[in-house]
Amino acid sequence: MCLFCKIVNKEINATIELENENFLAFHDINPKAPVHILAIPKLHVDSFNETSAETMAGITEFIQEVAKKVNIDKSGYRVITNIGENGGQEVKHLHFHILGGAKLKWEHFTDADPKDFL
Ligand code: AMP
Repeated sequence: MCLFCKIVNKEINATIELENENFLAFHDINPKAPVHILAIPKLHVDSFNETSAETMAGITEFIQEVAKKVNIDKSGYRVITNIGENGGQEVKHLHFHILGGAKLKWEHFTDADPKDFL
């Protein structure tokens, strides 16, 4: 069973922010912003590559609800999902990073020159 499935099953502790029948939101153990929450579908799916439009519809509303609950909906926030090796995905259970609570930088992307990767 994967790490996030264990969190869904409450076999591993996490600080849960919001939960419903299909989705779970918990605080990232290694936050990269004052607010850093992960939203996941409870049903295991490896990544965005394998998810369905139905799951995406549900998690969209769920993420909006989380943002309201932690009061970052008006100030703004960022939603990221990493996919596969080049995307930097470490945990192979679809998750959306919800980052906020401060003006976020765009560091790597603002400086990067595509030629640097060749
Ligand atoms: P990614 O690199 O997109 O796969 O992101 C995985 C995220 O999961 C990272 O930001 C980790 O800090 C986070 N993470 C790993 N283990 C845990 C855990 N036990 N509880 C909460 N977050 C975790």
